[in-house]
Parts: sequence; C-alpha cells; structure tokens
Amino acid sequence: MTVDSFYAADQITACFGDFGTHKGVDFEADSGSEIPAIQGGVISGAGYDESRFGNYVTVTADAGTWLYGHMESGPVPAIGSRVNRGDLIGRVGESGNATGPHVHVALLRGKDFVDPAPAIAGVERPLDGDDLISVIVAVTLVWLGFKLLWGPRNA
Ligand SMILES: [Zn+2]
Repeated sequence: MTVDSFYAADQITACFGDFGTHKGVDFEADSGSEIPAIQGGVISGAGYDESRFGNYVTVTADAGTWLYGHMESGPVPAIGSRVNRGDLIGRVGESGNATGPHVHVALLRGKDFVDPAPAIAGVERPLDGDDLISVIVAVTLVWLGFKLLWGPRNA
C-alpha cells in the first residue's frame, strides 16, 4: 500500500473541524492493514488514550508532530527510531473512540492541532514530470556553461 493510495481523498470519512471538535482527518481502511508514514521523521511517542485516540503513535517530522490513532496495537518501530515516508508504523484498528477501523491522522504544531490535509498531499513527493524537466534544464545549462568556460579554445 503506497502513501498516496492509503491516504487517498476517497478514503476520507471525516475532515478537520467536522463535528466542531474533530482535530484531524480520518481515513477508512481495513482492520490490520499496514499504516504507512506520511512523512519521514522520528518515532517520538506512543501510548493508549481510551477516550480519544486509542493506541497511537507520534512521528516528529518537518511539518510538525504527526499523530496516528486507533491502531490495533502499539507502534511497530521502537520509540526513537527513524522512519521514512511510506515505512510501516502500525496497523489499522478501532481502539479508543472509534466506530469502525480507520486511522485518525492529526498534526501538532507546538500545542495546536492544525489541519493535516495540505501536508498529507504535499510533503516529500518523489519527482514528478515537471520536476524532471526542471532538472534536465538545470543540468543542460550547467553543461553548456561548463563547455563555454572550459571547452577547447583552439579546436
Ligand atoms: Zn478522527
């Protein structure tokens, strides 16, 4: 399961701000399926929160501290270990305050939960077509410059 297909828009069952109090985005998924990390970082915490997140894990990354909730059990990687985007961080469950198997994704900046949706789509994407063209143009310019500066002058 890739990050993009796991956290696809059509898997969303609740958005940030829903019910007035929902401070994350819910993604429906089958019980026991692997949860991939949205952004690489360090496993910074884990616990069990009966009234809210159930089994949860936090990953501290560039965008903030990600929280993944309602897992089947504790995190797979140990606290302190590094994970990359797409690495397995736990399995889908319905622990805590959940009515069906799903992942609650939250993003903490300081003490505030912010809407994680923009960061879910926008972080650490592999190069796409447009990026590739930029790289080709940049490499070509460098190569032309190099030829002009260092090319044989008496050829
Ligand atoms: Zn939720």
